[in-house]
Amino acid sequence: MKRARALQIYTDPLQHALIAAAVAAPLVPRAGRRVLITAIAAALVIDIDHAVAARSVRIDATTSLLTRPRTHSLVTALGVGAGVTTAAGPVHGWAAFGALASHLLHDAGDRAAPTPMLWPLAPARQLGRRRQLVGTAVLLLGSIAISRAMAAGGRAHSAAAADGGGAAAHPQTA
Ligand SMILES: [Zn+2]
Repeated sequence: MKRARALQIYTDPLQHALIAAAVAAPLVPRAGRRVLITAIAAALVIDIDHAVAARSVRIDATTSLLTRPRTHSLVTALGVGAGVTTAAGPVHGWAAFGALASHLLHDAGDRAAPTPMLWPLAPARQLGRRRQLVGTAVLLLGSIAISRAMAAGGRAHSAAAADGGGAAAHPQTA
């Protein structure tokens, strides 16, 4: 039992990285592989607070009683997503948001400490694996929808350029 918990603790970062990369994967053909780096970084960095807590508090004591840190909230995911959108554009912003949301869902899917996903609106609780699966699928569909919208936008743009609409769109004042 103890060994299973230890295994979970040490493979968690890998699982978070893989899930985040899977959620962001549909964006790669349009936005390039860097969205994967954005997603994986976001999914891993949020657990720095766990590492800090684990060093000061015995892991046994944290498994059932304490809640996960308040950074494990959709408020954080939205804030980071907005910040990354400002810095690197909306696709990277979505990748960061999706990665963090998938991380929260994965954390809320186990039977360890409650996850304050809806903090400060609702108390911390676990959602279970089934809801994790549904939520992660919704994030994945979001990435597919964004990728399709970008493809459609690209087609509209090249059609306009082929029409000679590109010149009309940028009138020059001589
Ligand atoms: Zn976590």
